[in-house]
Amino acid sequence: MSNIKALGIDVGSTTLKIVGVDTDGEMIWHLLEQADHRVEVQVERFLELARLEQEPLDNPPLVATGYGRGLVHRAARQVTEITCHARGVYWELRHGGTLVDIGGQDSKVIEISPEGKAVDFVMNDKCAAGTGRFLENTASRLRVPIERMGEEALSVSEEVPISSTCTVFAESEIISLIAHGVSLASILRGLHRSLIKRIVAMIRTVGLVPPLMLSGGVVQNPAIRWMLEEEFGEKVILPRYPQLKGAHGAALFALEIGIQKTG
Ligand code: ADP
Repeated sequence: MSNIKALGIDVGSTTLKIVGVDTDGEMIWHLLEQADHRVEVQVERFLELARLEQEPLDNPPLVATGYGRGLVHRAARQVTEITCHARGVYWELRHGGTLVDIGGQDSKVIEISPEGKAVDFVMNDKCAAGTGRFLENTASRLRVPIERMGEEALSVSEEVPISSTCTVFAESEIISLIAHGVSLASILRGLHRSLIKRIVAMIRTVGLVPPLMLSGGVVQNPAIRWMLEEEFGEKVILPRYPQLKGAHGAALFALEIGIQKTG
């Protein structure tokens, strides 16, 4: 049982996340699953599990974010992922800078002001090459678990450039390289580099305001972190649960709604 005061739900294109916070905004409960094709049913199940966590049973204020936030009819508000990621990350790290959020099917670079507001951003949701899908396609094709891809890539220093920028062509290029006896690890290293180049171009569009902070599921990949540090020559900062920062930000907005109601 938890004393959840507010809930945030992030209906992503790849995963569904829910976070419960206490009166201070601290994350005290969460769930994360691959997004189901019947996401509305999945959302209802998450909300019921949240209700059962309460003592006494209760429906705390709820804010929805993410690509499918419009499907959460019970939410008091729907807030964009950009605003929620900025809020969740700022709450934890307590400073501004450049935030890079890499999700399953989109990526964003957000400039956060010293006061914690998202003041500029650029988003890529058209091309899979700068998102988790780029790595996932290859991972499933080559039967490498997604959680192992980064370590594999970092296990060698040789990097085989992948010239195709489109996911489908990159996949055929990789299959052909493997057929020619090129080592899998050096191919994976080159594949990570392609993704990083996309992200670096996005960062340069917004302009880097250090420090560089990360969120989203893909930044749990150590090669992504390492290559970003290498490109910019400085340490990147990772929050404790990068994949939950959007849902956490949404829960912090819900907490404000709860305070307004009781205040
Ligand atoms: P969205 O919010 O767009 O649904 P997420 O931020 O939840 O996306 O990120 C999902 C992506 O994170 C997927 O592409 C998945 O492969 C990747 N991912 C999740 N866990 C890991 C991990 N441990 N290592 C590498 N990649 C991961």
